[in-house]
Amino acid sequence: MSNSLDTLEKDALARIESADSLDALEALRVEYTGKKGSITAQMKTLGQLDPEERKTQGAAINAVKDRVIGALKGRRETLQAEALKAKLAAETIDVTLPGRRRPPGAKHPVTQITERVSAIFQAMGFRVAEGPEIEDDWHNFTALNIPESHPARAMHDTFYFDANHLLRTHTSPVQIRAMRETKPPLKVIAPGRVYRCDSDMTHSPMFHQIEVLYLDENVRFTDLRATLETFLAALFEREDLAVRLRPSFFPFTEPSAEVDIQCVHCGGEGCRVCKKTGWIEVLGAGMVHPNVLRSVGLDPAEVSGFAIGMGVERLAMLRYGVDDLRAFFENDLRFLRQFQ
Ligand SMILES: [Zn+2]
Repeated sequence: MSNSLDTLEKDALARIESADSLDALEALRVEYTGKKGSITAQMKTLGQLDPEERKTQGAAINAVKDRVIGALKGRRETLQAEALKAKLAAETIDVTLPGRRRPPGAKHPVTQITERVSAIFQAMGFRVAEGPEIEDDWHNFTALNIPESHPARAMHDTFYFDANHLLRTHTSPVQIRAMRETKPPLKVIAPGRVYRCDSDMTHSPMFHQIEVLYLDENVRFTDLRATLETFLAALFEREDLAVRLRPSFFPFTEPSAEVDIQCVHCGGEGCRVCKKTGWIEVLGAGMVHPNVLRSVGLDPAEVSGFAIGMGVERLAMLRYGVDDLRAFFENDLRFLRQFQ
């Protein structure tokens, strides 16, 4: 083997061994074995030799070329393995790093009030009842002694699907369903969504009501009053909370009352919240109207009962001091976080 070929090989193998990147290695491959590479150039000199020499020299060059290619391949595998190792090391997960925490969620104030009211009544022996949000005219109006001419039936209040089907405008139809399903004694509380065509600071087209119904022999107005006082004192966490009943009218109760509590903001002194009156209206209630009992096949001479209806958003506004009902439906987390 000629000296120059020997030197070329030593040189090539040494440089390949010390190549520190795949790019550098590729440059060496081109430099030695490429079309214009130095080993390729050696091949081109063979034509000047006589046949015998050409055979020996050709074999020697090919052997060098094979060893150089072998060295390139070996070095490439080493570099690739090192690169993979480095990549894996860089991507190692450090389990001691603090995680990215999601802020803790909380129940919506409307849900909190609903659960609180339900829990208070459940402690008094009431069970939770449910009914459909799409109601028929009979359950929503007729059975509740709401005559054809009553304003609640007007199109501007009620979302109708057709002449007979509507989105329930109150939770009172659940009373009717409960009375038809279970014979007295009956104690139910029915929370749920209700719908009316109305929207401003104190009205929303969808809002929540809770209906309470107690039916048995000899249920009296004093039972209603005692239940209201117990419930409101528990809800507002004030044992001495003053409660006032004012005569009112609802088609499905007789007698009926609007129920006020002493203003929880000023203690009855008079403030902006109670409009200087010292009282705040919180709900409506009354003795179940005989016509309602008759509509579900009960005899008003044998059974009597009371019903209570309340707006959940209104209670939440009072309890949390919120003055715009729409805030409950905007899902602004800055607002909702305050109730965690
Ligand atoms: Zn007040």
